[in-house]
Amino acid sequence: MQAFSYTKLKSEKDALGSFGKGVAPHEVKFLAGGTTLLDLMKLEVERPRVLVDINGLDLQGIAEDKDRVRIGAMVKNSVLANHALIQSRYPVLSQAILAGASPQLRNKATTSGNLLQRTRCVYFRDTSKPCNKREPKSGCAALEGFNRNLAILGTSEQCIATNPSDMNVAMMALEAVVHIKTAKGDKDVPIAEFYLLPGQTPEKETVLAPGELITGVSLAPFPANTKSLYVKLRDRASYEFALASTAAILTLNGGRIERARIAMGGIGTKPWRSLEVEKLLEGKAPSESLFKSAAEEMVRGAKTYTENGFKVELAKRCLIHTLKQAAKA
Ligand code: SF4
Repeated sequence: MQAFSYTKLKSEKDALGSFGKGVAPHEVKFLAGGTTLLDLMKLEVERPRVLVDINGLDLQGIAEDKDRVRIGAMVKNSVLANHALIQSRYPVLSQAILAGASPQLRNKATTSGNLLQRTRCVYFRDTSKPCNKREPKSGCAALEGFNRNLAILGTSEQCIATNPSDMNVAMMALEAVVHIKTAKGDKDVPIAEFYLLPGQTPEKETVLAPGELITGVSLAPFPANTKSLYVKLRDRASYEFALASTAAILTLNGGRIERARIAMGGIGTKPWRSLEVEKLLEGKAPSESLFKSAAEEMVRGAKTYTENGFKVELAKRCLIHTLKQAAKA
């Protein structure tokens, strides 16, 4: 592992400071739960020169903020999933978090760390193989290699890696706002604008610039008569990443879907929300044929690779099943 210096922060203000002569912002990494970063450092995929521990910052709260709920960046996944406010107001978020990782990992992993979770593409973690995300312009071993668990939507010829998080799928359907501290002041970024498609620069996964610090996330209230559900399909029942997952939030009124917010995991290069699918569902009565049309719309434009063609049908079935159950709930 490359040598690095370690510093523990006491205030958010210090997070934006300089961390040593000749150290560029991209060579500094914030350490939250460390459940991804420390693994990647051991594998020499991440090679920061300075590790800045943010566990001492006061970013642990979950509280109502006017009509929204604000979640601190350092709130542990287990705390968030089991919090009474989250379970009562956003059960889909609680379900998604509890579907991910293991209890031990959820006890360490944080909200901001989960937002920035790295892909599980095997080549990203194998420094003997080409990977454009790890080393720009080196190639992509997954295109002709092991790509069974990789994306069918939002891919480019440079990268087809999925965003592996369950929490982020629910956050996308919930239209979370990400709160960020920057040297120029605080900014709020809707999660729909937070993640980037790989395009020609798969190494850039979010709009977060080096040195910027996520301080929290906030969620708007559900309208009345809203049902929500997270369903995850995977190779084994626990401690496994999604092959396809759906977060569905449906507001029903007079036997019709008044409002739909739908996001899917396991199939896209970012947590995948389709405005077209939502538009297709809104104003109509729930039915098998409506949900089948929504599923066709969701995978329109999907591009498959040598091993992941099965995901098209799996994604459709996952969406139809989740919509049926959510509408029934
Ligand atoms: Fe790297 Fe992306 Fe290709 Fe995987 S799919 S090898 S992460 S460039």
